[in-house]
Amino acid sequence: MSSSPSPAAPGAQTPAHQAAPAGVSAPTAPATAPFTALGLLPALAQAALSHGYDQPSPVQALAIPQVLAGRDLRVCAQTGSGKTAAYALPLLQQLLPVLNAPRAARERRATRVLILVPTRELAQQVGEFLYLLARRCADPLRLAVLYGGVSINPQMLALRGGAEVVVATPGRLLDLVDQRALQLDQVAHLVLDEADRLLDLGFADELQRVLALLPQRRQNLLFSATFPAALDALIAGLLHEPIDLALSPTEQAAPDIVQRAIVVDEARRTQLLRHLIETEGWTQVLVFVATRYATEAVALKLQRAGLHAASLHGELSQGKRSEVLQAFKDRSARVLITTDLAARGIDIVRLPVVVNYDLPRAAADYTHRIGRTGRAGASGLAVSLVTAAQESHFRLIEKRQQQRVPREQVDGFEPTEVATPEQATGGIKGARKSKKDKLREAAAQATARPR
Ligand code: AMP
Repeated sequence: MSSSPSPAAPGAQTPAHQAAPAGVSAPTAPATAPFTALGLLPALAQAALSHGYDQPSPVQALAIPQVLAGRDLRVCAQTGSGKTAAYALPLLQQLLPVLNAPRAARERRATRVLILVPTRELAQQVGEFLYLLARRCADPLRLAVLYGGVSINPQMLALRGGAEVVVATPGRLLDLVDQRALQLDQVAHLVLDEADRLLDLGFADELQRVLALLPQRRQNLLFSATFPAALDALIAGLLHEPIDLALSPTEQAAPDIVQRAIVVDEARRTQLLRHLIETEGWTQVLVFVATRYATEAVALKLQRAGLHAASLHGELSQGKRSEVLQAFKDRSARVLITTDLAARGIDIVRLPVVVNYDLPRAAADYTHRIGRTGRAGASGLAVSLVTAAQESHFRLIEKRQQQRVPREQVDGFEPTEVATPEQATGGIKGARKSKKDKLREAAAQATARPR
């Protein structure tokens, strides 16, 4: 990593902890005090401050002391609540003694911290955040960010001298282990970011393989905004005497997201979307659809109508995926049409509007999708387009959210369609398996079969 001031000695006291002697006016608390009060060293607190974090968010205030104490955690905190720093800051601090040891004492840069994430975009985002933090407070740290869809060679090169911190998607991580580019037998801290996604069927096989490569004794940290009850047994088996940090609405500000539901006929959704963008003056809007094909079809129609729209999906090259997401973040594209690829973890600063053009399959995905707006204390708007066929499914989502969203009609777009009896009583119960999930399951069964 590039050079930066060396970190403060571990155990250094902060003046904020010391009472002023009688008769002496109390020194002004340094700006870093809220973070040092959680047990973070001044260098780490300063890094948070330089990142623009004046105060710890509620999840940071609760989790940081526990991570420093080495506890296993399951942290359920709302989208956009600052979970990345809640594990990144204390884990970097745990690494400081290793980083400060004389070089000769470290036979190689063993991987101590492994952060698993479900998507390439999230790997890049978490990697960038850690890189910036470490540059400020843990200079000699080597960090590797590993994800698929790009050439494996630069990642193998980056791992040559070892890396103390690895951020990875499971598939590429295993490819690199198979190629002997890294070993995981000295990992002391495992983070599952978007843990419920990593623990569900789609990743089960890969995750089990990764876990088998890790030492038994390690700290396990699970973070997500949703933990379906079906995962409880699996999680209990993974964690050792865990602390459950489920931030209740009183402990954390509920994301300030206004939810709206507009009823409309299926074939008129694109026109309605265009109408809303123009009449409501939406400057930046993230639109979720059900398929890769739909991302391109809807984007094309909006482009023809003169809107700067782009599509993001898993069949694009990784270079193109990064370019499109960056263009949207830079606001050079006004509308981004995407699949659930962008539903988890992606942080688009002050994104004002999210639209569910198609509803998500699982209620948990609804939480993650709308959580792309209303982040870090900002307010946001989430609009769902509800067709007659999807009405019963939306009711199911409302039930899981324990929130009723009034149905609206827009003049000129009043629906005429009526649900079939099956649609009216059906709804989609929980998560249906995606094509990718089914393929992974088939592959897992094939490898499990005795030869
Ligand atoms: P995360 O949940 O980690 O993706 O963070 C959501 C957003 O909150 C990101 O834009 C962070 O930069 C921001 N954030 C995280 N912690 C803080 C904090 N203590 N103060 C201000 N913003 C924060």
